[in-house]
Amino acid sequence: MRVALHTCCGPCASACVPALRALKDEPVLIFSNDNIDCEEEFLLRLENAQRLAQTEGVELFSTPYNHEDWLEKVAKGYENEPEKGARCERCFRYNLEKTAKFAKEHGLDAFTTSLTVSPHKVSPVIFKCGEEVALDNTPFLKVDFKKNNGFLCSTKRAKELNLYRQSYCGCEFSKKHLDKKP
Ligand code: SF4
Repeated sequence: MRVALHTCCGPCASACVPALRALKDEPVLIFSNDNIDCEEEFLLRLENAQRLAQTEGVELFSTPYNHEDWLEKVAKGYENEPEKGARCERCFRYNLEKTAKFAKEHGLDAFTTSLTVSPHKVSPVIFKCGEEVALDNTPFLKVDFKKNNGFLCSTKRAKELNLYRQSYCGCEFSKKHLDKKP
């Protein structure tokens, strides 16, 4: 199957591409991340995802950056939620909805997300969001990429490829912990 892989960043996707190929699926990377707090960071993460795509010989598509839309539809009223809280669930749904739409419009067979690589992300919550936004004949694949040492694989591969590894999840609200560091 040709599977749209929502790509949160190059390092996470670096573990998902071989994992999907091991399942006999061919990934197409979809970089759709309006949650990222500024365009400079969006472009930096995109450039690193493109380098991964080139190395692995996979296609990559990016949706236009629109952080204002994300702030209005996802974050408004949820600014003070902690990570893993309600804002994050809304954020997963927002990005997965765009990926589902892309997959459907481009005739891909299914979609999934690199978000499950991270030990900071709760896979069953992501699965629920993916299933909620799936469109007819384009199912969400519930792949828990953190299994089989997925996160460790992603950090190793990111080092090998010298990919940029960000210190915060993406939105401005996830940067708060950085202020507390000495
Ligand atoms: S912390 Fe990460 S997952 Fe949660 S809302 Fe912000 S960007 Fe989205």
